[in-house]
Amino acid sequence: MRTAWLLGWSLVLGLAGCAAEPGEDIDDESWLDGKGDGASAVDVARTNLQVDLATRTAVATIELERYGNVALEVGGLTITDVTDDRGHRRYKILAGKLLVSRVLGPLVVTYGFAEHANADGLLPGGSTVIWPYFCGNVFPCHSQPADGTTFTLALDGIPAGKTAVYPEAIDADAPPYMLAWAVGAYTRATLGTTAAGTKLTVDWLPGGETAARAGTKNLVKVFDWFEKTLGPYSFGSHAGAVSVVWGEGLYGGMEHHPLWHVAKDAMADEVTQAHEAAHGWFGDGVRLRCWEDFVLSEGTVSYLSARALAKVAGPTMEAKIWADYQRDLDDAIATGGAPAWPKGCNQIDIIRDKLFTNLPYMQGAFFYKDVAAQVGADVLDGVIGRFYRAHANKAASMQDMVDAIKADTGFDPTPIVEARLRKQF
Ligand SMILES: [Zn+2]
Repeated sequence: MRTAWLLGWSLVLGLAGCAAEPGEDIDDESWLDGKGDGASAVDVARTNLQVDLATRTAVATIELERYGNVALEVGGLTITDVTDDRGHRRYKILAGKLLVSRVLGPLVVTYGFAEHANADGLLPGGSTVIWPYFCGNVFPCHSQPADGTTFTLALDGIPAGKTAVYPEAIDADAPPYMLAWAVGAYTRATLGTTAAGTKLTVDWLPGGETAARAGTKNLVKVFDWFEKTLGPYSFGSHAGAVSVVWGEGLYGGMEHHPLWHVAKDAMADEVTQAHEAAHGWFGDGVRLRCWEDFVLSEGTVSYLSARALAKVAGPTMEAKIWADYQRDLDDAIATGGAPAWPKGCNQIDIIRDKLFTNLPYMQGAFFYKDVAAQVGADVLDGVIGRFYRAHANKAASMQDMVDAIKADTGFDPTPIVEARLRKQF
């Protein structure tokens, strides 16, 4: 696969030529000095990464949405070369951003990266986590989830006796934080295939088979329910769960579709597996327009995972999930933090301003449960499915969801929004 796309690139570069735009200097000095309008930076279309784990070096070939000035987050990277179709380019790094002006063709960045201990890059356990805005510790990026990118990834330098688990290509727009890899002594099992033809697998680490099988015993049915209820899965024909060793500060799972990660000690938990699977539709499939819309990702998937497991595993499972959710909600209310759905757009720091608590997850789930009690759970499934199909691989807001509920059902959920999502505890 890697050889194929490298060949593809040399063809593209050959055809694109090296001509500068007429009448322009090659460099825009005010952009390089950081005086440009940051909002005018060109968005990313496709991120192609060729990573050598042995030397911790990589080449990122960033395809852009158009010709223009580029500002990419590179806070944790050591840049050694930057080229585009014109050849080697002048660049500056200011406030953690790589600035290059008037970029013609794909931007090729050669760099080194380092291990990170705080769940913010390549972890000592061999996997990566860059959520929410740490992609600049692994590759040049725009961390805003609204700027979706497709990916290719190739890993070299994998230690003897270990396997690298990662997607070689992601061909639908995804948030930058979706990309990850995991390296370890993995064993893979195929769980089955959904009616739509998606193959589900699970990868576990030594000693992890029993937990992995327990947590994924209904996963094909859950995934099938998502596909039938919400719409087509957009990240390929193979998806699955991967066990990872995380350090402090991380628990549960992370929505690294199509091969999502689950902490080793959560692998047996069916709710965690269903939750991460559901992110293929919300959070990854439908991206957040603003960080304040976090509840559209976490609240929606917390509800959908409960709903799917109720359908495929029955009422005892359903009752247990909602009892656990209620306990988590009570704890989150007691702890406090930002409201589940704060006002504004990208004015909040999701970590520092304490939006990343259980509150958006649980208030979001109970928001949908309260709406379902009014309009019927099957009717609400229809609303969420239409919403997904309208916004798949694009950014959307929680307001869009509130509006869709009202438009599709005639029920105005505003009082539930105020009581659950806007309230500060
Ligand atoms: Zn989640």
